[in-house]
Amino acid sequence: MLAYTYLSKGNFQLMERPKPVLQNDRDAIVRVTLASICTSDLHIKHGSVPRAVPGITVGHEMVGVVEQVGSKVHSVRPGDRVAVNVETFCGECFFCRHGWVNNCTDPDGGWALGCRIDGGQAPYVRVPCADQGLTRIPDSVTDRQALFVGDILATGFWAVRISDIGPEDTVLILGAGPTGVCTLACALLKHPRHIIVCEKDPDRREFVRTHYPQVLTVGPEEVAGLVAQTSEHGGADVVLEVAGVPETFRLAWECARPNAVVTVVALYDGPQTLPLPDMYGKNLTFKTGGVDGCDCAEILRLIEEGKIDTTPLITHTYPLEQIAQAYDLFEQRRDGVIKVAIQP
Ligand SMILES: [Zn+2]
Ligand SMILES: [Zn+2]
Repeated sequence: MLAYTYLSKGNFQLMERPKPVLQNDRDAIVRVTLASICTSDLHIKHGSVPRAVPGITVGHEMVGVVEQVGSKVHSVRPGDRVAVNVETFCGECFFCRHGWVNNCTDPDGGWALGCRIDGGQAPYVRVPCADQGLTRIPDSVTDRQALFVGDILATGFWAVRISDIGPEDTVLILGAGPTGVCTLACALLKHPRHIIVCEKDPDRREFVRTHYPQVLTVGPEEVAGLVAQTSEHGGADVVLEVAGVPETFRLAWECARPNAVVTVVALYDGPQTLPLPDMYGKNLTFKTGGVDGCDCAEILRLIEEGKIDTTPLITHTYPLEQIAQAYDLFEQRRDGVIKVAIQP
């Protein structure tokens, strides 16, 4: 089969690879019906994910149909339509039992698919710990509706869950890229008093205004003023930083009111500075991390009920044979691209 393969820094290629087979009685083989390209794939391409293993098939955001399961897989059967979780987790270790599945101690635990083991920018993928890694898609939910459930939507849902958003709150979301918009879609479920989305790209601000007219949008230069006007206690009650540059890291704590929660979802290229003397007395709570992706069933239920719809994020669709062009479009941010779907 043809699979998009990480060969070396800067070099991904569509190559002939063997179809995956079951290696363990907890594995499943999934026929990929729709995949997508994630910013993390670009991080691998640029060599900024040291644990990525050269030679693997990339891609960690996908949906498909179960083709084959190992003898210890009980939650899915061949023929089931499933969302694939970006994270592999055993469900049994200390971290899994607390819901902290990103830190699962299984050798394949955490982000393995499309990073340390073969992923899904290919017609088939082997999913380890399939009882945890696969979630059945309800019949009325399409592949396009479910495409982001296992990765960026799981991330937005988790970020909102740990941020303790209440009905009185002014919530500031920094960044309206794909993960920022997913975070916004999940924050709306908490019905805070105000949501402000800060984004420097005018096209992305326009996208938010079109699809989420109840939300305030602003550029980074004006955000501090708008937050001051909109909030009652000198800053945002909750800040979610999803942009991942030094400027937005600084804005995240600057725009927060005293005793606010600042949740850092973004992945940065380098260390950030916490100027503790300047922040002294503000008594902020910082929450950081990579998604604990264990809410996929609940997210699919919300999609089924019409409460989350991320299909407008899919601006382009390419066949697998043209995946190199799709990467180029996504990376160069041409033609208003937000997310690209790939059809194997
Ligand atoms: Zn991703
Ligand atoms: Zn575990």
